[in-house]
Amino acid sequence: MESKRMPAVFVGHGSPMDAITNGPAREGWRKMGQHIGKPKAIVAVSAHWITKDLHVRTAEDNRQIYDMYGFPKELYEVKYAPKGDPALAEKAISMLGGKATALNNWGIDHGVWSVLSNMYPDADIPVVVVSTAMRNTPEEHMAVGKALAPLRDESVMILGSGNVVHNLRLVSWEMKGGHKWADDFDRTIRDAIVKGDFDTPLHFESIEGWEDPVATGEHYMPLLSVLGAASKDDKVSVWNNFSELGAVSMTSYVFE
Ligand code: ZN
Repeated sequence: MESKRMPAVFVGHGSPMDAITNGPAREGWRKMGQHIGKPKAIVAVSAHWITKDLHVRTAEDNRQIYDMYGFPKELYEVKYAPKGDPALAEKAISMLGGKATALNNWGIDHGVWSVLSNMYPDADIPVVVVSTAMRNTPEEHMAVGKALAPLRDESVMILGSGNVVHNLRLVSWEMKGGHKWADDFDRTIRDAIVKGDFDTPLHFESIEGWEDPVATGEHYMPLLSVLGAASKDDKVSVWNNFSELGAVSMTSYVFE
């Protein structure tokens, strides 16, 4: 089969309810899937597979994990369990040069299935899930994407699912947009990325007021992995450029 270069994609996944709520997030994901077309496989770094060290799922299957609590029944009825790709997973581990090991105690969590069930509803594209390793430095998160970047030339899409701004402690459930501090941080990151400046997001701790938007960090780090997989020659497009619940930005990026 002829190889088509596939993009590196960061998706803000937001509330689990976005998976099934007809609104701008879901609509944006659908359009992103149509715009990108179908990759041969997807390597997905998830903000919800939080581990100390870096792990790659190598199993044949992806057990669907409903890692969210107290939501309406219909959310737990979403079925999305694409196959794994053991050969691709082993290849990813070897490309990561000893920095990652196989681990199969997780599956496909809502960070990944909420988005992919809308981008690629047929669940017919194999997915290899990669964890967010909390012992990694920002540079090391970026290096994960850099190491995996050559897969893009083999029709594999590199996906990071998280949120540029994500602070559950400061969420306002009744709010539609974002708090000023959230929108300011999101805009600083966006302005840098569209200019091809990946140093600003990498050194986010130099941005005034970064503490509340980045908070516990696990939702931000997949962005750095995607930036590592992006090339300065890629064209970048911005999707779902809005915030929800005051403290969650949905801003998503396609590098192609
Ligand atoms: Zn999340």
